[in-house]
Amino acid sequence: MAMTVLIVEDEEKIGRFLELELMHEGYEVMKAANGREGLEKAQSGRADLVVLDVMLPELNGFEVLRRLRKNSDIPVIMLTARDEVMDKVAGLDGGADDYMTKPFAIEELLARIRLVLKKRGGAAGLAGQNRSRLGVGRLCMDVQRYEVSYDGKQVELTHREFELLRVLLENKNIVISRDTLLQKVCGYDYMGETNIIDVYVRYLRSKLDDVYQVKIIQTVRGVGYCIKDEN
Ligand code: CA
Repeated sequence: MAMTVLIVEDEEKIGRFLELELMHEGYEVMKAANGREGLEKAQSGRADLVVLDVMLPELNGFEVLRRLRKNSDIPVIMLTARDEVMDKVAGLDGGADDYMTKPFAIEELLARIRLVLKKRGGAAGLAGQNRSRLGVGRLCMDVQRYEVSYDGKQVELTHREFELLRVLLENKNIVISRDTLLQKVCGYDYMGETNIIDVYVRYLRSKLDDVYQVKIIQTVRGVGYCIKDEN
């Protein structure tokens, strides 16, 4: 699911430019051309982040932010005019997550948007995808509850089996090498057997494939492992 960015900007050219750039990066975009409309849309709960201009008709950006913060902690990046140092301070004090001075480089704004979403959303912010639930076919993983089920039935996994399955589910259709899996599952300082990943894959297969007559984890000879999603 794509992240949605709300752009609150009265200058149409800038708004349109931001919209195109954000859409190009894979975000859904909502727009508002004045402070009042911006506040309403920011409160609607449909956006994941707000890019908020300071100089706006009806309600200025600071006022929008002040009202918004009474009942919402949605991430906000303020756009201020150049050299308005006091604006920056007011913006951050008022609960903005970051600010940009105009004119700004679009790449920098995109980088800050990614950073703010990542900081705020933790794992959920990654690449705009919701990572708290993973799965393939009838296999479901609830990362936050630390639970795995197949066809609705709980599957008991050890910590490392869970982590291995998680890495593979997070990277569906990508072949992951044994070395990478070893680092992610056992840590960089792991000093034990290097075939330990094969052992965990075997355990996982005995708990999933053998029980449910499926083939969840594919072996890619000489490379590593992969979970394929046919859908
Ligand atoms: Ca403006």
